[in-house]
Amino acid sequence: MSFQNPVFIPGPTNIPESVRKACDMPTIDHRSPAFARVFKPAVAGVKKVLGMGEGEVIILPSTGTGGWEAAISNTLSPGDTVLAARFGMFSHRWIDMCQRHGLNVEIIETPWGQGAPLDKIAAALKADKGHKIKAVLATHNETATGVRSDIGGIRVAMGDHPALFFVDGVSSIGSMPFDMAAWGVDIAVAGSQKGFMLPAGLAILGISPKAIAAMETAKLPRTFFDFKDMLKSYAAGGFPYTPPVGLINGLAHAVQLLEDEGLEAVYARHHRIAEGVRRAIAAWGMVPCAASPELYSDTVTAVVVPAGCNGTDLVQLSASKYGVAFGVGLGEVAGKVFRIGHLGSLTDVMMLSGLATAEMCMADLGWPITLGSGVAAAQDYYRNGAKEAAKAAA
Ligand SMILES: *Cc1c(COP(=O)(O)O)cnc(C)c1O
Repeated sequence: MSFQNPVFIPGPTNIPESVRKACDMPTIDHRSPAFARVFKPAVAGVKKVLGMGEGEVIILPSTGTGGWEAAISNTLSPGDTVLAARFGMFSHRWIDMCQRHGLNVEIIETPWGQGAPLDKIAAALKADKGHKIKAVLATHNETATGVRSDIGGIRVAMGDHPALFFVDGVSSIGSMPFDMAAWGVDIAVAGSQKGFMLPAGLAILGISPKAIAAMETAKLPRTFFDFKDMLKSYAAGGFPYTPPVGLINGLAHAVQLLEDEGLEAVYARHHRIAEGVRRAIAAWGMVPCAASPELYSDTVTAVVVPAGCNGTDLVQLSASKYGVAFGVGLGEVAGKVFRIGHLGSLTDVMMLSGLATAEMCMADLGWPITLGSGVAAAQDYYRNGAKEAAKAAA
């Protein structure tokens, strides 16, 4: 007998049964109209999830990281300057990629647990009288620390500086509000295995008309990720190479599931589940890594473990003893936190099972918590508090 528990890692996420079935399809000719019938609804659905106005959707056989590479290589030239804040493993890795591509990165070093600092971004752009900065990079949801940055606020902080605005929304898009048009985002990057509830394998991007125009002068080399080749083939209903048809069919189905639930309801569900997790953490006498409530992510919480405890021990014990996956701390916070992923195909009841498992591990490890305390706090919130919050909002 094989038993499968839900995962509580911040991606890949649990895959709804119907999405798995949609991925499982016989071979079709990807140069026939049958492919366009799969592809078009996927693109239309992604546009809605990204909150796109004008612009195009790009779907690449890749992952979120490939989406970053596509974003910079299609729009920038060697030696160009980009501005980015570093406050976690994912914002760090995007900066590292830019440097490896020969870009000059003006880095705003920011403590882990904080978000993108609007004042420093505004000051850096204001000081850039000659408009050397060609792009501003922002990580919407820093998955290493569970921190959400204010993307609309960054756009405002940019003022009338002409830089492009690229956003890593890999662990937020499809789970937390994202509004590419209202926020003036030029490239938004997502991956199939997080909010879209698919296996890994697709980078999903929204690109604005300004980003499309930037391709004309961008000199960084690109072939596999060339947006121009993609857009030319899309216009003819196809792909410049063999598309992963099953994944794209899964994507078409997944965006329909999000639309059926209603994006507002999807975001409210993520917020409710996350808030229950935060109540549990408080009951354990612990705190999130995110420094203040407006930074709290609704898709992942990095829990700061008590002094003398190691978050990685909990993750390893949970996997080996209970068959339940949590995320380890990365980089600067390795061992100091463990991460609870609460995004994608998830319910209150599934989350309670995750919290109960975390408690069993803590008790096993001799951490100073009372069994059931966090679960009870989350139960109370899911039964009562969430309803009161909804009433107050109405
Ligand atoms: C998961 C993640 C990535 C990396 O995506 P891959 O699909 O693993 O390449 C990038 N940024 C953030 C914020 C993420 O959470």
